[in-house]
Amino acid sequence: MANFVIPKFQTAAVVDHSGADIRIDHEFPVKSQEELLPGECLVKLDCSGACHTDLHAALGDWPIPAKTPLIGGHEGVGIIVAIGNNTAHSPVKLGDRVGIKWLADSCLNCEDCRKGREQNCKEAKLSGFTVDGTFQEYVVSFVNHVTPIPANIPSDEAASVLCAGVTVYRAIKYSQTSPGDWIVLPGAGGGLGHLAVQYARVRGLRVIAVDTGDAKKELCLKLGAEKWIDFMECKDIVSEITSITNGGAHSAVVTSASGAGYRQAVDYLRPGGTLMAVGLPGKATLEASIWFTVFKSISILGSYVGNRQDAVEAIDIAARGQVKVHFTTKPLKDLENVYEGMKAGKIAGRIVLDLAQK
Ligand code: NAD
Ligand code: ZN
Repeated sequence: MANFVIPKFQTAAVVDHSGADIRIDHEFPVKSQEELLPGECLVKLDCSGACHTDLHAALGDWPIPAKTPLIGGHEGVGIIVAIGNNTAHSPVKLGDRVGIKWLADSCLNCEDCRKGREQNCKEAKLSGFTVDGTFQEYVVSFVNHVTPIPANIPSDEAASVLCAGVTVYRAIKYSQTSPGDWIVLPGAGGGLGHLAVQYARVRGLRVIAVDTGDAKKELCLKLGAEKWIDFMECKDIVSEITSITNGGAHSAVVTSASGAGYRQAVDYLRPGGTLMAVGLPGKATLEASIWFTVFKSISILGSYVGNRQDAVEAIDIAARGQVKVHFTTKPLKDLENVYEGMKAGKIAGRIVLDLAQK
């Protein structure tokens, strides 16, 4: 059995209280093997993606607050270096490369878990929100929920599949669409959105990407979007989409972090269309005409990350090269700058933090 040397201290990016700047702590304690509880594992991380959810958590702009002090992050990949004593029937072992997703753990026995909605488990533990996440070198996670990473995908390419990829993969899976259907993706140039363009193409859908700026336009078209709409320039999104699709889109998967991305979605869907709500502005409400929602038989569905099986399926598609994360690598100490870029809407695709660079 592999034997790993585990240091007592490490580098971690800490948010001391909601709204505080990131503090890089070079002496943050690492749990020893003896301190791990049954079912827990310690993962030495290679890297972690930075999701807009981490920014919401650091700012505290959601109705439910994150724990503080907080180490954010939920798109991590690394090696299992320790497992808690008395862990029974672990599906993973020391030395395995695994992914850490938003849903760190769930009870696996309640009605929600049994029905495959593990993310709705009342005992769910959330990486980088209710438990410390992947913006550190060593993270404590849970053997039942870590995602095995296939050998043929590098860690930095796999990282953002674990939240951004899994989330849009599941949203598209439940979007009630068939090959050849039109799907509108507001937020298409962002972390979730650029993967949604690709998972939609894998499913044979025709993509209308909605976002703003030349860099995001170029990225979306390169990744397979058939049409591009710049939401800052287009005067009438509803008539533009209705005309492109000859009567309205079959689905919209909204991944913008502001309420504006949701506006008009019901209006540009065709009868029988499905609105998948994914982006998580903390205070915005969804406005839709009740009359037209009924008259057009529209479905409005919330879609929240994914379960263990969604994670395995999303990673498998990426490992086979059908979906690729478009990312730039930065050191952990740049996290505050990454958040600034995210607030300004300047990041096309994703930023992945290299945890070997402190
Ligand atoms: P991101 O910042 O990388 O991308 C958001 C994109 O939306 C940006 O490219 C931005 O330009 C675009 N945008 C802003 N306003 C728009 C508008 N009016 N129309 C079209 N596009 C617009 O963020 P991300 O990491 O992709 O996350 C997006 C949102 O999804 C966040 O709110 C995040 O918390 C949420 N999220 C939800 C889940 C879930 O399970 N439902 C999972 C992960 C993230
Ligand atoms: Zn996320």
